Amino acid sequence: VGRNPGEKEFHQAVREVLESLGPVITKHPEYADSEVIRRLCEPERQIIFRVPWVDDAGRTQLNRGFRVEFNSALGPFKGGLRFHPTVYLGIVKFLGFEQIFKNALTAMPIGGGKGGSDFDPKGRSDAEVMRFCQSFMTELYRHIGEYTDVPAGDIGVGGREIGYLFGQYKRITNRYESGVFTGKGITWGGSQVRTEATGYGTVFFVDEMLRSQSQSFDGKRVLISGSGNVAIYAVEKVHQLGGRVIACSDSSGYVVDEDGIDLELLKQVKSVERGRISEYADRRPRATFVAGGSIWDVPCDIALPCATQNELDEAAAGVLVRNGCRIVAEGANMPCTPGATRVFAEAGVLFAPGKAVNAGGVATSALEMQQNASRDSWSFDYTEERLGEIMRSIHDRCLDTAEEYGTPGNYVAGANIAGFTRVADAMLALGVI
Ligand code: NDP
Repeated sequence: VGRNPGEKEFHQAVREVLESLGPVITKHPEYADSEVIRRLCEPERQIIFRVPWVDDAGRTQLNRGFRVEFNSALGPFKGGLRFHPTVYLGIVKFLGFEQIFKNALTAMPIGGGKGGSDFDPKGRSDAEVMRFCQSFMTELYRHIGEYTDVPAGDIGVGGREIGYLFGQYKRITNRYESGVFTGKGITWGGSQVRTEATGYGTVFFVDEMLRSQSQSFDGKRVLISGSGNVAIYAVEKVHQLGGRVIACSDSSGYVVDEDGIDLELLKQVKSVERGRISEYADRRPRATFVAGGSIWDVPCDIALPCATQNELDEAAAGVLVRNGCRIVAEGANMPCTPGATRVFAEAGVLFAPGKAVNAGGVATSALEMQQNASRDSWSFDYTEERLGEIMRSIHDRCLDTAEEYGTPGNYVAGANIAGFTRVADAMLALGVI
């Protein structure tokens, strides 16, 4: 904590991983002897830069840009960019740290990194977003590349932003280097299923959790917080698998729709019009909008927090448990506070952490990199099938590892230990680096 003052989300993420590692160190003292844990907590490189740009009124605006290149023992740094006013070094480092273990869990050749800016795209015109992205890339381009660091999207960075960023990269470098970015559009080097991957993968993972309990999505009531990229495609897949999503949200409040969330309307309001979730309720006679408040008050069988960090606290977890919720899986990164995870553990709720549950996004990014490297493009069905296989193997890896280290059924321990041992072994093999 003294070494990284004020970075509270980073401390939280590190603590959560370290708490799982006791049994690993007992079994493998070489990890302690080599200081591999301390080395893992120190990013290989951190870049902080000025991002000046001019708004539509001709005024100069200033933001701060970040890229934390955390660990490249397993492959090039890989992880998204987040544009949100809350972004500061502590957020980027927590996300980058999580990304190391998540990427290791996918068993694909990718290291961990993350970046972003305190820029707020909300309410900005397309032209303003483009000028911001061009300025951001004018610094970032010198640090990234197919074999060094491969960014993607995250909160506030979707297809539009990736387009502007990739366009500026191409222009500055005079290279059509598709593999430098993932999340690209289909006609300019993107992969089928990447847009859907994190939401779909989340639901594939939960389907495996249900299967391990001899259950299915059939008839289950599901809450999904957020209404962005992850949430929208989680809604779609839950409905395809027979469950019913009855509520979703944004930062202004939540909607309840007992008929099941209407996916087309949700996409229209949130992705096409970039509107507020209340506009969904305005156009659906039986849906209600609750301003502010907690979506976790709505009774459900399964809760999937898919918005942002620390959105589900101890009190909300208590309400979920009292209302009969039996499964919680993190589509977002670290959405549950430590107090909430404690409540779930004590109540015997099946709980799975983001670094396992939402790994389908980065895994499909790795598939996009494969396609770019071979100048190939795969069909939607084939790519979705690969995603399904990857999520099933991540699920089984978590459970097998939890069993091996004496904590059967504990997805948190399984994910942390499986991710850690993979990256730590690679670091030991590569020497003191
Ligand atoms: P989007 O920007 O597409 O959507 C974010 C959603 O969360 C929006 O509905 C937003 O509401 C809501 N939200 C953001 N901040 C808050 C807040 N403070 N309180 C309540 N709601 C909030 O982002 P994504 O869907 O891409 O990302 C969601 C989560 O999933 C993040 O934790 C991200 O790190 C994680 N993730 C994303 C991956 C991806 O492939 N996109 C991959 C793996 C993880 P509003 O519109 O009002 O801001």
